[in-house]
Amino acid sequence: MSKLNIDEIKDKLIAERELLVRKLSGNDLSVDDSETPDPVDLAVRNYSKNVMLAVSENESRQVALIDQALLRIEDDEYGICQNCEKDINPKRLAAVPSARYCIECQELQERGLLDEE
Ligand SMILES: [Zn+2]
Repeated sequence: MSKLNIDEIKDKLIAERELLVRKLSGNDLSVDDSETPDPVDLAVRNYSKNVMLAVSENESRQVALIDQALLRIEDDEYGICQNCEKDINPKRLAAVPSARYCIECQELQERGLLDEE
């Protein structure tokens, strides 16, 4: 079994998390409801607001995944597939540090064939 460089992965996860959180708070600041808008302006604003919400939803999910990965590091369970409990390929973890599943289970998940907790 190849050894994972947990410290390096942890740094990576924390850096990625910080970036996402900064992006998320940036989104909040750019949504400004304080002025009295005309209807066209309002429509445009609602549109961009929805786009931003969709973006932050995606980013919030990524932050949650990173938090879970960090918890697994604390619990000494990092790098173990959350479905079949096999070791996740270290190369995969280096590329996607917040990965929860091995490649086989990830594929199942993407096809909607995996029961998620
Ligand atoms: Zn698996």
